[in-house]
Order: sequence, then structure tokens, then C-alpha cells
Amino acid sequence: MARTDAIVLGAGIVGTSVALHLAKRGLSVALVDRRGPGEETSYGNTGVIVGASVFPTAFPRSLKKLIQVALKRAPEANYHWGDLIKIAPWLISYFNFSTPEKLKESAVKLRPLMSHAIAEHKLLLEEAGAMKYLRETGWITLYRSDAAFEGMKPQLEFGAQIGVAAQPLDMDGTLALEPSLNPVFRHALMWPDVASLSNPLKVTQAYAARYQTLGGVLLKGDARKLHRAHGRWRVETEEGPVDAANAVVAMGPWSPDVLTPLGIKVPLGIKRGYHRHYHAKGNAALSRPVIDTEIGYALTPMEQGIRLTTGAEFADRDAPPTPVQFDRLMPYAKELFPLGEPNEPEPWLGRRPNMPDALPVLGRAPSQDGLWLAFGHGHWGLTLAAVTGRLIAELMIGATPFVDPAPYRAERFK
Ligand SMILES: Cc1cc2nc3c(=O)[nH]c(=O)nc-3n(C[C@H](O)[C@H](O)[C@H](O)COP(=O)(O)OP(=O)(O)OC[C@H]3O[C@@H](n4cnc5c(N)ncnc54)[C@H](O)[C@@H]3O)c2cc1C
Repeated sequence: MARTDAIVLGAGIVGTSVALHLAKRGLSVALVDRRGPGEETSYGNTGVIVGASVFPTAFPRSLKKLIQVALKRAPEANYHWGDLIKIAPWLISYFNFSTPEKLKESAVKLRPLMSHAIAEHKLLLEEAGAMKYLRETGWITLYRSDAAFEGMKPQLEFGAQIGVAAQPLDMDGTLALEPSLNPVFRHALMWPDVASLSNPLKVTQAYAARYQTLGGVLLKGDARKLHRAHGRWRVETEEGPVDAANAVVAMGPWSPDVLTPLGIKVPLGIKRGYHRHYHAKGNAALSRPVIDTEIGYALTPMEQGIRLTTGAEFADRDAPPTPVQFDRLMPYAKELFPLGEPNEPEPWLGRRPNMPDALPVLGRAPSQDGLWLAFGHGHWGLTLAAVTGRLIAELMIGATPFVDPAPYRAERFK
């Protein structure tokens, strides 16, 4: 029986960052996953670290957009008919949190974490020897219609109030930054306080390697076997059982698999999303992520090629992949950027773990001593991983937390 101070369940970017922060503070830690670090959701994201976001991604409230989604004509969203009843309670809750007032509230509550996100990642990237993956080149959001750009105004005004910088770019300015784009858009915004990664998987692996050099242990095991034994938390692993006074649930979309049997109910929903890598034709290239806002996809330069990531698919977490959005998106994407052939046979499917209010669940679990929660980061789990790691570690050792953890408590849904 191995005894540690803490077991961290889930070695995605969130769990790995938590484990690294705990190890940095001298705790003995076991990081447990059924796969290698960063191989699930944290592998396939758009790679954006957003120190600058205004409103969280909202449920569409315009009738036109809702009809387009319902008719399965919206490139940015898809859904599975058969799963609608099952996911309806979460969808209703998400819809209710997508009012302008509630989006503002969530934006304000997220700000303390967001504003430290890049600086905290840089500290980990430096010590993990992974700075080569970081680009501090911002991101560009494109608008094909005047109406869509006009629609951004309230968000930009509110962003200015809470310290989020966005600079309008004219066509020449946009093409000077990204000469391979075709001018099929009418407006663009540059968000300078945004960074991105050229390989999110390698970054999680680098954080895991750094954690191991600090004495942290990485173990293969099924987290669903977490249970209480003699007043401590215990999990079985391929190396045998491990127990600890503290256990952290950081399993992203799979967190309820451990929490539900323990009687902890959280309204976690899944927004599935896909990616596929493409060769760029000729010498075409990108220097930063670019978002084709109204169509609802992103193009990001990655080590593997140009990664096209899709918007949301509302379906059961475990349903087979249905990457139909690619058929709807590709004509637009190819019009914007000279994408060549895909360089892998099938799109990758990921699952964003989303709370209805777009805030993660961080801190002590209700009614279970020594159990900690670090999941539900939705669209911004890569962004918020390093700050999550720091916050959980500070709370666990009883240090003064660098941000007020109150808005992220699980009890907010009671
Ligand atoms: C298409 C797409 C684009 C995105 N773009 C961005 C972006 O640009 N910027 C950003 O900040 N975020 C982005 N995200 C969101 C981000 O990727 C996620 O929020 C983040 O990866 C969640 O990390 P995690 O560590 O919580 O979960 P995961 O990476 O999924 O890690 C959970 C871990 O738990 C493990 N696990 C599950 N069940 C068990 C079990 N029973 N036993 C043991 N281990 C288990 C899994 O193997 C996995 O390693 C995007 C997501 C998608 C899908």
C-alpha cells in the first residue's frame, strides 16, 4: 500500500497542473489516469490561452439561429435527436444562464482567473522547458457581415470596462498579420492579450515530466474505484492500491463517474467538438489562431498542421462520433484559407466539460472530507489549468488563495 498526501484523478491539463502545483509545494502526490497525460480533451483543443475573453460562449437566443440549429443547417452546432431528452435539463439550465445579464455576471466572476491565466502558464512552461510551444501573438476574430460586427459592440464596451483589450483591424492590417487569408470577411478584431500553444499534448506531457522530476508519481488506474478506507481515500492502480488524506477529482467530462456514486450531483453538461489537421497549400501559413466567428470554427497553426476545430455538438458524451459539421464548414474554411488535404483519416472527437454558468467547479467537495473538485472548465480548460492548479494547491495547504475561490464552489447550484 502506497501512502501519499494527495491522489489526483485525471491527468488532463487540469489534473496535471494540479498535481504539479501540489508537488511544487512539497506534497507527495499520485496522479492517476487510465491513459497517458493529456491524451483526452486536453489533446485536441484549439490551443488558445485567453487572458482576454469577454462573454462566455452562450446558447443561441436569436430565433433565426435557433431555427438554423434545429434544422441542422448551422455550421457551428449539431445535436443528436435521440439524446435531447437526456440532456434537456442541462440545456435548459444553459439557456437560462445565457441572458446578457448572467453572461456579464459570469464574465466578471471569471476575470480574476482569466487575468492570471497566461502569466501562470508561463511560470509552468518555463520550469517544464516548454516555452517553445508558446506563441504570444494574440488571436484574430473575423466577421463576414456588418451585422455580426455590430453585434459585438456591447461585448467590446463591457470588455473595455473589465480590462479586456480588442483592436479593430482593417483589411490591410489583417492581411499584413495573416497574408494567407483571403478577404472574404468585412471586419476583424485583434485580441492582443491572448496566447496560444503549437502542441497542447506536448505541453501536458512536459508538465507531467516536470511533476515527476519533483518526485510526483504517475500511475495507471481506474478512478471509478475511488473509495473510503480507514478514513482516507483509496484507489486501485496497476501498481497496487494508493491511499491519501486528500483526493482531487480532475477528470473533466468524466468527473461525474466518480462523484455520482459518492452522492455529489453537479450539473455538468458536455459540448462535444471535433478537430482535424490539414496541410496548407503551397507556402500558405498562419501565425496565430483565427476564428471565423459567424460560421463557428477556428483555424490554428499546430505542429501537426493547420488544426480546424468545430463549435458545439449537443449529444451524449459516449455516443459515437458524428462529424457532420465538417461538411457544412469546409466550403467556408477553404474559401478563407488555402487548406489542402487532411493529414489524418478521421476527425478527432473531444468533450468540453461545461457548467451552465460557464464557471469551473473548484474547491472542497460538499460533505466529503478531503475530497477536492477541479473540473467543468468548458471552453477554457487549457486556459484555466495553471490557475486551477495554483488555487487548489493553495487551498489544500491552507495558504491564502491568490483569488477569491467563492464563485467557483460546487454549492452555488444548490
Ligand atoms: C474542440 C475543442 C476546442 C477547445 N479549444 C480550447 C482552447 O482553445 N482553449 C482552452 O482553454 N480550452 C479549449 N477547449 C477546452 C479544453 O480542451 C478542456 O476544457 C480541457 O482540456 C479539459 O481538461 P481536463 O483536464 O479537465 O479534461 P481531460 O483532458 O479530458 O482530462 C480528463 C482525464 O481523466 C481521465 N479519465 C477519465 N475517466 C477516467 C477513469 N475512470 N479513470 C482514470 N482516468 C480517467 C481521462 O483519461 C483524461 O486524461 C477546447 C475543447 C474542445 C473539445
